[in-house]
Amino acid sequence: MKSPAPLPEQQSLATRAIHGKKLYAFRGPVAPPIVQTSTYRFADSGDAIRYAQGDPDVYVYTRYHNPTVTEAEEHLALMAGTEKALLFSSGMAAITSAILSVVKKGDEILSTPALYGGTYRFFRDILPRHGITVRYIRPDALGSIVSMATKRTKIIYCETPTNPTLGIVDIAELVFRTRQAAKKVHHRILTFADNTFATVRNQNPLALGADVLLESATKYLGGHTDVMAGVVAGTASFISGAHTQLKYYGGCADPFAAYLLLRSLKTFDLRVRCQNRNAMALSGFLEAHPRVKRVLYPGLVSHPGHQIARRQMTGAGGDGFGGMVTIEVPGGARGAAGVCDALRVAVNAMSLGGVETLVSIPLYSSHVNMSAAELARHGVTPGMIRISVGIEGIQDIEADFDQALSVAG
Ligand SMILES: *Cc1c(COP(=O)(O)O)cnc(C)c1O
Repeated sequence: MKSPAPLPEQQSLATRAIHGKKLYAFRGPVAPPIVQTSTYRFADSGDAIRYAQGDPDVYVYTRYHNPTVTEAEEHLALMAGTEKALLFSSGMAAITSAILSVVKKGDEILSTPALYGGTYRFFRDILPRHGITVRYIRPDALGSIVSMATKRTKIIYCETPTNPTLGIVDIAELVFRTRQAAKKVHHRILTFADNTFATVRNQNPLALGADVLLESATKYLGGHTDVMAGVVAGTASFISGAHTQLKYYGGCADPFAAYLLLRSLKTFDLRVRCQNRNAMALSGFLEAHPRVKRVLYPGLVSHPGHQIARRQMTGAGGDGFGGMVTIEVPGGARGAAGVCDALRVAVNAMSLGGVETLVSIPLYSSHVNMSAAELARHGVTPGMIRISVGIEGIQDIEADFDQALSVAG
């Protein structure tokens, strides 16, 4: 007798990313249709009545639901191994809507300090105007979550690996301390993890006990530098609350963006494996390079977070440390600009996670508009170059950095 096919949630990530739930006899297109519409024709007014009575299966308006977007969400939920995922127009739309579905005036968030610049500035400049405060916890002293938590604390927020220093936050430890804190203050505290740098291929915060997974799909999930989107994944009840925020703040994903994302997901596992491999090789190459002062990559034994990364990224086999590498070159910001300008394969551009290698100088990009004290807290120095390693031939990437470093030196 033939053994039955595994259930979708038992399949490998690559299979779930490619097929989603469509693993049954299904007559129709193999590629998903792009349902490029803002509204939907009702069969008759019975549909309108069913919608008014709360039936979630009636499509009424694309800001609420769209079949192409729903299909992408099903793929993403399966990949994250969770009940539901919600697709947004950008990573920031996902992050802000997810946060605002939990906190209200007077509440507080405790966060690890090294954050994506947009998230950090949202915490610094926007949330306080709504009476919501953010305090920072040291990633090397997560035990302090318990003493810092008060009855106002509603979210423990983290990002790992961090941008741009690739610092590692121990997610299991953060979850454990959050549960202790929740006992102390007698209410639920949710843990949020921005998983953009690692991706669900390399690290799954939900499997480590976190409540909410956030990812900018603009980066590795999209992977081709041509789509803006963001994902929130978690329980059905959490996603329902986040969906309410989405409807009012309006950060819905566009059907064409959802289509591009579905197309990208077919090669997601392949791409990220290649980026892991290339980044591992490039980081070793640059660490041995005489014109590089420092290399930050969680896969390197020299990296302060290496042991935790080995545990929580699927890098135990040596290939799950992600595609982001940060280096420091001599000569400060001018030295970094010289190297970036001399690169011929790698492209000098913001963003990350695409098939092409990109470089950026954090001082002028992700961490612009920050005081010296804030830069120090984020571990950013002027001579830093952040590299998003692509899937080009590794020998070409290495040769490019080799020539750029010698030209700039
Ligand atoms: C890019 C990024 C975001 C924001 O995503 P957008 O799609 O640009 O809105 C959030 N977190 C991290 C870690 C990012 O790299």
